[in-house]
Amino acid sequence: MDYELFKTTIQNAKKILIISHVNPDGDTLGSMSALYGIILNNFGFSQDDVDMVYNGIIPEIYKFIPFIERAKKSAEVSTIQYDLAISVDIAAKDRMGDSLPLFEKTNIRMNIDHHKTNTNFGTINFVRGDACSCGEVLFDIFKALALKTDKNTAWALFAAILTDTGGFRYENTTAQTLQKAAELIQLGAEPATISRYCYESKPRNMVLLHANCMINAEFSDNNKIAGICITNKDMEKFHATNDYTEGLVEELRRINTTEVSYVIKEVDENTSKVSLRSKTADVSVVAQVFGGGGHTFAAGCTIRKPLNIAKNKLVEEIRKVLG
Ligand code: AMP
Ligand code: MN
Ligand code: MN
Repeated sequence: MDYELFKTTIQNAKKILIISHVNPDGDTLGSMSALYGIILNNFGFSQDDVDMVYNGIIPEIYKFIPFIERAKKSAEVSTIQYDLAISVDIAAKDRMGDSLPLFEKTNIRMNIDHHKTNTNFGTINFVRGDACSCGEVLFDIFKALALKTDKNTAWALFAAILTDTGGFRYENTTAQTLQKAAELIQLGAEPATISRYCYESKPRNMVLLHANCMINAEFSDNNKIAGICITNKDMEKFHATNDYTEGLVEELRRINTTEVSYVIKEVDENTSKVSLRSKTADVSVVAQVFGGGGHTFAAGCTIRKPLNIAKNKLVEEIRKVLG
């Protein structure tokens, strides 16, 4: 990693845009916030010259992330010409949603990520498939450059690492991950408080939607495949916003017989959005069949087919990786 290039690129920029992915999670929001804080604190930028953008809605549980209330919708900044755009935790360009045109029209495009399927779509790329989270990639950059990491940055990076490791439980949790988390605690991150925000603050209707989905879950192949289909009607019934389905696919994987779990959601009558999780098989392969991607045990894609047809095609592909 050419860390000096990170430094000189920021130093040479005048107006910077940081971009998070659609259906934002703790890693993309925590990374965006940490990068924003680092740029303001270390490179002499004013608030007016650094913007953050998001797509859709910021889940309630992540509103504690420092500065996140300053993040804007793409439409609010669409007339501004930036000279540096930085995408964080974005595996593929289409995951930028409405922010993609902003990225494309910027001269210098930096791609900071940790998905092994990342195609190095930036003009400058900091992509490390070995890192547990984009937050960890940023942590290493900040440390190598001895940048001042204050309490806000520590909170944001801790949230990113915590959520992408499933609370330090997934395979991507290494000794280095825990050492870095420990350093962030020394810098002021509060693990109990951050965990409470991330894991103990669900809206009631979200839990009720999950209960409804679990009751209607479908099991096949000796219960090795476990899945949930969610229609827009289900979402309306629980006054659910898009983020309410987060965590469902992990709940299904938690069942002892599950090898691969999926959640497939109706976007419109011809579009279905898929989340995949696995204990052993590589589900990024399944996602890639449909033009998506991700990690070995957590991947996603969008299938341009009605819900039921998409589900059948998806299960067919899952069977192939289960062997
Ligand atoms: P999700 O199920 O939405 O939490 O996504 C699981 C993982 O797959 C995350 O790391 C995503 O960044 C990645 N992912 C989801 N959808 C896509 C996609 N369309 N293209 C590439 N990666 C994706
Ligand atoms: Mn993410
Ligand atoms: Mn991530």
